Amino acid sequence: MLPDEFPAFLKSFTSPPPVSVRLNPLKHATLKGNAVPWCTRGIYLNARPRFTLDPLFHAGAYYVQEASSMFLEHLVLQLRLHQQPIRILDAAAAPGGKSTHLLSLIHPESLLVANETIRSRLPALTENLTRWGYPNVVITCNDPQHFGALKGYFDVIVLDAPCSGEGLFRKDASAVRQWSQEHVKLCALRQQRILQNLWPVLRPGGLLIYSTCTYNAHENEEVLLKLVKSKEASFAEVEIPPDWGILHSREPVSGYRFFPHRVWGEGFFVSVLRKTAEEPVQTVRAKPENVSPDVLQTLRSFLAAPVEMGYLRFSDQVAALPASLMQDAAWLMQKLNVVSAGTAMAKVARNRITPLHPLAMSVYLNRNTFPETPLDLGEAIRFLRKESIKVEGPFGYCLMKYQNVPLGWVNIVPGRANNLYPSGWRIRLMD
Ligand code: SAM
Repeated sequence: MLPDEFPAFLKSFTSPPPVSVRLNPLKHATLKGNAVPWCTRGIYLNARPRFTLDPLFHAGAYYVQEASSMFLEHLVLQLRLHQQPIRILDAAAAPGGKSTHLLSLIHPESLLVANETIRSRLPALTENLTRWGYPNVVITCNDPQHFGALKGYFDVIVLDAPCSGEGLFRKDASAVRQWSQEHVKLCALRQQRILQNLWPVLRPGGLLIYSTCTYNAHENEEVLLKLVKSKEASFAEVEIPPDWGILHSREPVSGYRFFPHRVWGEGFFVSVLRKTAEEPVQTVRAKPENVSPDVLQTLRSFLAAPVEMGYLRFSDQVAALPASLMQDAAWLMQKLNVVSAGTAMAKVARNRITPLHPLAMSVYLNRNTFPETPLDLGEAIRFLRKESIKVEGPFGYCLMKYQNVPLGWVNIVPGRANNLYPSGWRIRLMD
């Protein structure tokens, strides 16, 4: 693949992988570093800090993400996927890099379905999406074949496919150990199966964004070529400045490749296909369960959103999501294994309303509803360890914040403040 550049490629393995993060545009943290060329809020850090000891990391103010993957933003903007409400499926979403990025880019009334097939990877996905704080997302846990009931439903499908991980060799020694020709073959077969399952779910004219973090053609061009030969599809292309160092190969498959000696990032491949077939699409019909008017009135005061919000009952909780997506969320609950829909705002039992952690993380939290207490670094870490901290204030729920970014709730009762930080998320490091 790299006849002249192979020595430079090999040499790139002697330099450390760059550390990059992507800022949450709605949480207003400041971090300094060089800009990632293809991502507005992507920055390279000079050194790798201990992210677990930074309260802003736990607050969802930024996401630690490999820079090449952030190229998704360039595709979204160039293909104008951000300008109007769309339905988008992130089919292999955990731990949530692409999903959090998409949420920051797409229209606030677009629906993102973030799906993860492997159950054990769901907690990381849920945690990262909760911290990111956007309500227009439904998290599902389904095998790609379960999407068969949603024919023609999505405008865009992102498949960041499970792959043999050659592009991670510099960063992750286990990727080198696990690599074999057999594994490449197995991954290619799996990718084909996933694509076959997902293709009918894309609407006519819709786009499939296929990516891997591997270089070989078996898992990239060959898989896509099989698809375009058996289905009605064409490649969609975007312009890229030549000084970015990305290789665009055009024939017979149009794809973008990232090599670590050419870009400041790891190995990555991405390609965009458009479905050209005319096929019938599924109609959405479902009725969301109503929330009582008194409860609704209180919950409405908790949010200050740029779009009209709807409220959905989900067991003993009420979740908020854009009103225009309520029917879709209720419909998806009938068709898929939905783990969560929207922002879980509060537990509601006999009209008693207890705010939940996702509400504290919400980018639309109304900052005039609850009293707030600023914490310094030491206090914030103690709060995130779920230790008890001293908080003055009126009895009731109080928002803890660090550098004005919310961290979570305490409930002030006579004599103490109960720390409501989720037990499973607390920082466990001792130093
Ligand atoms: N998109 C994620 C992100 O940006 O953070 C990373 C996705 S990772 C490259 C590939 C994902 O595919 C993993 O979450 C993995 O659990 C999932 N996966 C593994 N085997 C799968 C299968 N047979 N079908 C669907 N997804 C699978």
